Amino acid sequence: MSSTAQILVIYTGGTIGMVQDSETGTLKAFDFKHLTSQIPEIKKFGFHIDSISFDPIIDSSNMQPDVWVRLARIIEEKYEKYDGFVILHGSDTMAYTASALSFMLENLSKPVILTGSQLPIGMIRTDGKENFITSLEIAAAKKDGEALVPEVCIYFEYQLYRGNRTHKFNAEHFEAFRSVNYPVLAQAGVEIKYNHEFIHKPIGQEFRIFTSMDPGVAVLTLFPGITLEAVEAILNIEGIKAVVMHTFGSGNAPTHAWFLEELEKAVERGLIIYNVTQCRGGAVKMGKYETSVKLQKIGVISGYDITLESAITKLMYLLGNNYSAQRIKKYLQTSLRGEMTVQ
Ligand code: ASP
Repeated sequence: MSSTAQILVIYTGGTIGMVQDSETGTLKAFDFKHLTSQIPEIKKFGFHIDSISFDPIIDSSNMQPDVWVRLARIIEEKYEKYDGFVILHGSDTMAYTASALSFMLENLSKPVILTGSQLPIGMIRTDGKENFITSLEIAAAKKDGEALVPEVCIYFEYQLYRGNRTHKFNAEHFEAFRSVNYPVLAQAGVEIKYNHEFIHKPIGQEFRIFTSMDPGVAVLTLFPGITLEAVEAILNIEGIKAVVMHTFGSGNAPTHAWFLEELEKAVERGLIIYNVTQCRGGAVKMGKYETSVKLQKIGVISGYDITLESAITKLMYLLGNNYSAQRIKKYLQTSLRGEMTVQ
C-alpha cells in the first residue's frame, strides 16, 4: 500500500516510546526525529510522516487539562497541512485524553488516533509496533478523498474504538481497552475492516478548538458504608461546580434521609450532580428502582451510558463554555460527540 498521505505523529510520552540502550540495556526515550530509520517498515507506506515530541515527555498519570490544550493547539496549527494525526500517549489516562479531545476538537473531519503500548517499542515482544503502524494506516485511510474515520479514536491491540467510549480495563494484557457500550469502529486482521455504520460523519462546519476546560469537577463514588462526613466533604469542596456521582447498577443510590438531604442541599446551591453508573456496561435508568426515583425528583441528571472518563471531561468542557445551568443540564443529557446513547 502506498499513498501520499501526510501524517503528523505527536509523541507525548508513555511506555511506547522507550527503547533499550544497546550498551547499558536501560530503557530510554525513543528518538522520534529519526522515526523511519528506527521503524523502517513504515517507509513502505510511502506516507510523508512528520513528528513532534514533547520535551520532557510525560507519563500519562501526570496528564493535565493544559496538556490537552497543547495537543488541541498543535492539531489546530497543523490541521490544514496533514491528513491525519497519531498521538502516542501512555495508556493509563489515554481514555481521558481521547474523551477530552473529542469535545475540544469541534467539527473534526480528520482522524486523530491515540495509541500506545504495554511494552516499549524497543522490546522484542512489543505490542507497540503493530499499534503504531496500524494507527498510521488508519490515520491515512480515505475514500473518495474523505477520511474514513474522522473521529478521535483509540487504536489498541487490533481494535479501533471511539475514544470517548473507552476505558482502560487491564494493566497487563495487550488488550488494555474496552468500549462496552459502543461497537468497535474497525478491526484489524488480514485487512482493516471498518464498521462504517458506527463511524461519525463530519457535519461540514469549520474546524475549531475549545481550550477553556474548567476543572471544577469532583467525583463522589458511592459504596456501602459511605459516611455523611465523606459525602458532605465532597459536595462542599470549594470551587466545585459539578460532581459526577458514581452510582450503583442502573443509577441507584442509598435512600437514607441524610444522604438525600445532602444531595438536595447541594442541588439547591446550584451544584450539578451527574449520575454515572459504576457498571461499565449498561446505562443509568433513573426511576426504574425506588432507589433512583428520589434522585430524579431532587434534580440529579442522568448520564445514561456515558463512561466516567467522558463524564468528567464533558463537564469540564460544558462548564468551561460558561453556559447557563439549564443549557449545561440539557447538553449533559444530549450526545454531543457520540459519547452516550440517550434512551
Ligand atoms: N504509566 C504509563 C503511562 O500511562 C503506562 C503506559 O504507557 O501504558 O504513561
